[in-house]
Parts: sequence; C-alpha cells; structure tokens
Amino acid sequence: MNHAHLIVGAGITGCTIARRIAEDLGEKVLVIDKRDHIGGNCHSHINAETGIEVHSYGTHIFHTKEKRVWDFLKRFTEFNSYRHKVVTTYQGRTFHMPVNLQTINSFFRISLKPHEVEDFIKSKSELENITNPQNLEEKSISLIGRELYEAFVKGYTLKQWECDPKELEASIITRLPFRHTYECDYFTDRYQGLPWDGYGKLFERMLDHELIETRLSSDFFELKHEIPQDCKVYYSGPLDRYFNYCHGELKWRSLRFEYRVEDVPDYQGTPVMNYADIDVPYTRIHEYQHLHPERENKSGKTVTAREFSLKWKQGEEPYYPVNTNEDRNRLELYLNDAAKLNSTHFLGRLGQYKYYDMDKAVQAALEFCDEQLPS
Ligand code: UDP
Repeated sequence: MNHAHLIVGAGITGCTIARRIAEDLGEKVLVIDKRDHIGGNCHSHINAETGIEVHSYGTHIFHTKEKRVWDFLKRFTEFNSYRHKVVTTYQGRTFHMPVNLQTINSFFRISLKPHEVEDFIKSKSELENITNPQNLEEKSISLIGRELYEAFVKGYTLKQWECDPKELEASIITRLPFRHTYECDYFTDRYQGLPWDGYGKLFERMLDHELIETRLSSDFFELKHEIPQDCKVYYSGPLDRYFNYCHGELKWRSLRFEYRVEDVPDYQGTPVMNYADIDVPYTRIHEYQHLHPERENKSGKTVTAREFSLKWKQGEEPYYPVNTNEDRNRLELYLNDAAKLNSTHFLGRLGQYKYYDMDKAVQAALEFCDEQLPS
C-alpha cells in the first residue's frame, strides 16, 4: 500500500475522518473494513420481498444538537422529518416511553396535571432515602420512584445488560428524559431525521472522493505487516483486540436480530416497541417502514426484527460497552498502551470503548481532525 493514511473501519467515525483527511490535507486515504459493506452498524439493506429499508444492526435514528455535525452530514444527504417515538409494553398494556405524564397517569390510573408530578414522584422517591444516587437503580428510583422503575426499567435493563442495575452507571439511564407533560418525542434535539435515500447512500457519498480508496472484506490484522512505517493509522476497531487482549477483554453486549416479513400492512403502528417484562425474551421489536412515512409501501406486508441482547464473546459483534469498574481499570491500561503509539489513533465507539451516539461519534471525529490535521 502507498497511502499516507489508513482508516480501519468504514463506520461513521472512519468515513468522517477519511473525508476530512482527503479534503483538508489533500492526501491519499485507504479505508478498510473487515465486513463486506460500508457504514458500520449504521448499515441498512433493502428487503427484497417488500422493498422496505431495513437497518441491519438495529434502528439508527440520527439526532443532534450540534449544528456543525448536522451541517457536515447534510453535505452528503437530505434527512426526512421523522421524530423518534417509542412505546413500551408492560403486562399487556402499552405506555409512552420515555416516562411521561401519559405513562404515569395510565400506570397508576390517575390523572395528574403537570404541576402535580414533582410532588407525586417526590412522595415516592423520598421513601427510599437516596440522597446521592450512585448507580442506574438508585438514579432511576430517585427520578421516577420504585414502582415505575420496577415496571419500565428493571426488567428491560436486566435483559439488556444481564447484570444487576446496581452495578451499572447512572449515566445509562440519564440518556432518557423524564417528562412532566404528554410530550412523547424520544429526543429533544433540534436536528433529527433519517437519511432521505438511505444510510447506504450517505456513506457512499462520504467516501466518494478521488483521494479515498475503500477496500471491503479486509482484515486489518492480516495486512498489518504491509503498513509502511510512516503511514498514519486511524483505528476504529475494538481497542482490546488491537493489543491482542493482553490486559484481558473489555466487556461488551452483543445483539441478535430475528427478522420476519409479517403478512399484514402494519404490525405495531410504531417503529420501536419496547418490552419491559422480564419474561419476554427480546427487549424490543423494530418495524422499519415507520421510519420513512414519506415512502409508499405497496407490498401489503411489513418487516419486523425482534432484538435479543447477548453476552459478547470473541467473534461476535460488540454493540454496547458494559463499562463496569473492572472494565474501566482495564481501559486505563489499554489507553496507556495506546498513548505510546505516535502514529496510531484510536477512535469511535469500539476504539475508545465509549457509548457514543452517531452524532457524538461524528463530533468526536471532527474535533479529532481539528486538533490533528494541520490547517
Ligand atoms: N431503558 C429502560 N427501559 C426502556 C428503555 C431504556 O430501562 O424502555 C434503559 C436501559 O437500561 C437502556 C438505557 O435505558 O440500556 C438506554 O436506553 P436507550 O434507548 O438510550 O438505548 P439504545 O437505544 O442505545 O439501545
């Protein structure tokens, strides 16, 4: 290879950095990915039977507060006006998620007004005496009280993370807002939507530059020995894998999707239905056609995917960093090793072992380029 820059991983981080290097430095970039497609976990494909765009690795909704991130991606795609909404099923009844006034009123069969919610929740959470919540369970109870926690968070979280919510970071639950109104948008960000003509086109256009070459089905570890000394490497694969797991594995959750073509025009009336009960084996059902209400589905059928959360093991796809204390200690060892490598940078959800959303991954990649690429 005769490139000055090698990007490992053609996901949202790798594509952002490749584009910035090609445009800002005017130097040749090689992007490799061991999968046979670009876009990383944002990849989508068309279901042949229905023509519906299916997100191959779970539903990916783009949302951001950052105009800069939005403006950057808008160069490569239009977005539709979709705003994400989630419904959750608990004991055969359906509720808004995140928890809002409909969830509370319907769950307790009452009819509080917004200004009454705070005292209502306080009367419940005060019983618990949690002054300084230290973990996901304590944080949830302090926000919504024990009953709502046990109904909507405990079972889902146990299925998702397969560990005691007391062992998980409080920040996982603060990803979800808690509302005193009937507002049911999942995200409050100003900029939201799905790529108008699909995720595939977005990433194709990001990599469509005369200085960028993309090679798929290429494993970094197989061509590592061919990399010239002076080539800069931007690695967005798993951090521990790079160092051959020398300090042990960083723990991840993996996912399995069970796809079905349902013989009805609309299966659940919403793109994502969560299942809070512990005895339902999946965490949620995705129904992709609802992400693009502007598209016409003439098939009379719809595609769904049941999402099952799994313990990650080598050879499977890592999705969510578990991030226990043990992981954090290990991470520090790996980050120390990484800091010693001058011409290799570790980026993205896998490379930094961070629970990045798509926009945060783009933002971090843009900021990395601001710092590292001479202007
Ligand atoms: N969560 C929950 N119940 C729900 C949805 C989410 O308890 O119905 C918790 C769960 O611990 C989950 C976390 O909130 O891991 C973050 O949820 P989010 O929807 O942000 O997860 P993602 O879409 O990234 O899988």
